[in-house]
Amino acid sequence: MLKVNQQTLLRQCLWLTQRYAHSQVRVRFAPSPTGQLHLGGLRTALYNFLYARHLGGKFLLRIEDTDQTRLVPGASERLVEDLLWAGIEIDEGPGFGGRHGPYVQSQRTDIYSKAIKKLLQNGTAYRCFCTERRLELLRKEALRTRQVPRYDNKCRHLQAADVESLLAQGAPHCIRFKLTEHEEPLEDLVYGSVQHNVSDNEGDPVVIKSDHFPTYHFANVVDDHLMGITHVLRGVEWQISTTKHLLLYKAFGWQPPKFGHLPLLVNADGTKLSKRQGDIGIQHFRERGYFPLSLVNYVVSAGGGFQHKAHAKQQLLSLQELCQQFEMERVNAHPSRLSPELLDDLNRLEIGQRLAEPESRLQLVKQVQELVKKAYPEHSNLDLAEAHIVDVLNWSSQRLTLLQDLTSSKLSFLWVKPSNFELKDLSLEQLISLITELDTLQDFQKDELNVKLKKFAKTEGLKFPLMMKTLRAALSGLNEGPGVAEMMEILDKSVALDRLREALPKTDINRNRKIV
Ligand code: GLU
Repeated sequence: MLKVNQQTLLRQCLWLTQRYAHSQVRVRFAPSPTGQLHLGGLRTALYNFLYARHLGGKFLLRIEDTDQTRLVPGASERLVEDLLWAGIEIDEGPGFGGRHGPYVQSQRTDIYSKAIKKLLQNGTAYRCFCTERRLELLRKEALRTRQVPRYDNKCRHLQAADVESLLAQGAPHCIRFKLTEHEEPLEDLVYGSVQHNVSDNEGDPVVIKSDHFPTYHFANVVDDHLMGITHVLRGVEWQISTTKHLLLYKAFGWQPPKFGHLPLLVNADGTKLSKRQGDIGIQHFRERGYFPLSLVNYVVSAGGGFQHKAHAKQQLLSLQELCQQFEMERVNAHPSRLSPELLDDLNRLEIGQRLAEPESRLQLVKQVQELVKKAYPEHSNLDLAEAHIVDVLNWSSQRLTLLQDLTSSKLSFLWVKPSNFELKDLSLEQLISLITELDTLQDFQKDELNVKLKKFAKTEGLKFPLMMKTLRAALSGLNEGPGVAEMMEILDKSVALDRLREALPKTDINRNRKIV
C-alpha cells in the first residue's frame, strides 16, 4: 500500500505529465444562439473551461448560428454575459481576439465552401437534387411501412454528366456526405468504448443546404479542425452524431480531436430537465439572487470531476481551486442529479464568505440597499445605514439563502421605520425610564431582554401584552412579526433604542428632557 504522501506525489506527477503532454490543449464551447444559457449549457462550458485551465490550455467560444431560422436576436450577447458572470474566461472568441477567427459560423461561409470542394473532389460528398416533395413522399412511405424515415441515397448514383446538366439548368440542390461503415468504437473520455454504426440507421446527411449554409455537422467538424481543437467535451445528446463526425474527419484526412460526452443533467428524482422549464435558465438564477460561485459549485457537484471526500463538509470552492482539482477521469458517466436544496446551502455559504471579506462585504451592503429601495419604493424613511445592514447580515447569515429574503414582509421592520406612532398603554415617563433601563444592558440578547421587559411591566404595574403591543408598534409600526425581544436583538441596541426615542411625542417639554 502506498502511503498517503506517496499517493499525492504520484497524483501530482500524473498531473504534470498530462499538463505538459497536452501543452496545446484547446477546447471550445459552441452554443447556438437560439435561446438563453441554461444549466446544461453552463455545465458544458464550465467543464471545458476547467479542463483547459487544469492543463494550461485555451478555452474558445464559437457561435454556431448556421440555422438562421432559429436565431434569437441578442442571444449571443446574453450567452457571453452569463458565461462571464459565472467567472468563465474566454481566451478566443467573438470580441475576445484569437488567430482562428471569425468565431461566428455565419461569417465563415467562404471557409465551408472551400472545404466542401475537397469532399466533392475526393468523391466523399455529392450533390443531391431531390425535391422537397420527393423527400416528403419518402418520409410518408417510411411511416406507412413503420420504418424510420431516412434518405435513400438516390443522388449518390447520378452520372457526372447528369449532374453537370442539372447544374447548368440552375437546379436547386444540396450537398450530402456519403456515410460509410464505421467499425472502430468511439473511445469516449467519459463513457469509455462506445459502438454506434451510423450508416445502419441513417441516410446520407446534408452537409451544405440549398441556401449554401452548412449544417451543424459539417461546420462543426471543419471549425474544430481549423481552430485546432484537441478535445471536444459536449452533452451526451451529441454522442450519436460523433461517428458521423469521425467519418467526416476521415474523409478530409484529418486527425480527429478526442471526444468526451457529459451525461444528462436531471432533476433530483431522475426526470429530465426541460429547456422549456424557464427556471433552468441562468438568467432566472441571477434574477433570484444566486451568486455565481454557488451556481458553479452546484453544477459541478452534480457532474463530478473531483475527488469525493467521504463525510466532507459541504464546501464552496473557488474557480481556481476547481480548475486545479478537476480530473476528467472523475466525471460521472451516469445522469447528474441536481438537488435544489444544495444550491441553497451553497448560496448561504457564499453569503457567509462574502461577509467575511471587507471588500465583498461592502458590495453586499450595496446590494441590500438596492434591494430594499426596490422593495419599498413608497417609503422615504428607510433604515439603510451600512452598520445596520452589516449587523442584519451577521445576524441572518446562518439562515439566509438569498439576499432577497431580507426584504420579505415579515422582516420589513428591519428597514421601514415606523411612522404615525401614537403612545398608548404606557405613559411617557414609563417609556423614558424603560429606554434608560434598556440602555444599561450589556448583552442585548433576546432572553435577557425578555426578563428585563417582564420585570419592568411588573414593577410599573403594566399589563405585559399591552406594553409589548405598544413597543412593537414603536419599533416597527407593525401589528405582527417576530417577538418584541427578538426584534430588538435583531435591530441591535442602538437602532432599537433610537426607534423607541423617536416614538416619544415631540413636544417642547420632551425635547428639553434629558434622555440618554
Ligand atoms: N451548437 C451545438 C449546441 O448548441 C454544439 C454541439 C457541440 O458542442 O458540438 O449544442
